[in-house]
Amino acid sequence: AKPTIFVITPTYARLVQKAELTRLSQTFLHVPQLHWIVVEDSPHKTPLVTDLLVKSGLTYTHLHMPTAKDRKLQEGDPSWLKPRGVEQRNEGLRWLREDRRAQPGGDNQQGVIYFADDDNTYSLQIFEEMRSTQRVSVWPVGLVGGMKYERPVVEGGKVVRFHTGWRPSRPFPMDMAGFAVSLKLVLANPEACFDGEAPMGFLESSFLQGLVTMDELEPKADNCSKVLVWHTRTEKPKMKREEALQAQGLGSDR
Ligand code: UDP
Ligand code: MN
Repeated sequence: AKPTIFVITPTYARLVQKAELTRLSQTFLHVPQLHWIVVEDSPHKTPLVTDLLVKSGLTYTHLHMPTAKDRKLQEGDPSWLKPRGVEQRNEGLRWLREDRRAQPGGDNQQGVIYFADDDNTYSLQIFEEMRSTQRVSVWPVGLVGGMKYERPVVEGGKVVRFHTGWRPSRPFPMDMAGFAVSLKLVLANPEACFDGEAPMGFLESSFLQGLVTMDELEPKADNCSKVLVWHTRTEKPKMKREEALQAQGLGSDR
């Protein structure tokens, strides 16, 4: 059997949430052996996400973990000020460690973990690339870091450096969308998680540092020459007319 891909997605309530999760879930429907772990940034599971998951046709686990108030980005803050989705990704890892320990049989440690934000764009091919991950696999990410793409540079089949516009000296100067980790490695390193206090740009490194070294990285996507995932960001919809209707008592709450 193919190894299962466990996809951990942090998500939070906003106007575009249902649209994002609809697009994402319909991409995942095309991927065999995928288990979606959706972690709401919320003090409780919301009906919107519950309903969407029930109707999705996917194998999923629905979790929630609110971001601590002092860690949460406030309206008007620049987006780089605080890392987003940290507690949610860690909650997904906690659930996996717990669940996989409890499962009987020897097959339950087979699998690959991928962190998929709800607004990115994923080619189906990237899932087949990551499925053979032994420890940590890596590939390019498009439209990120103020560049067309960032990527690991491969020489002689090994990652030797990173093509990135900013602080290439970081241990792993990669976006969250640019790597996958084997379940076995995560289970063997029970302390590995994302450090929300890590300096800007070091979130991915805070997790990967305890798991691998650069020369152990497994390059995918044709020696990291193909872009198969994009760090797209959705524009915040304007609600000028909606607000005018609300003021007249004619607004919709949906
Ligand atoms: N996210 C979250 N809570 C927040 C902000 C973001 O759970 O307060 C999630 C979001 O849904 C996404 C991930 O964290 O899956 C990364 O957030 P975002 O896409 O806003 O980050 P960026 O693209 O700016 O790096
Ligand atoms: Mn994003």
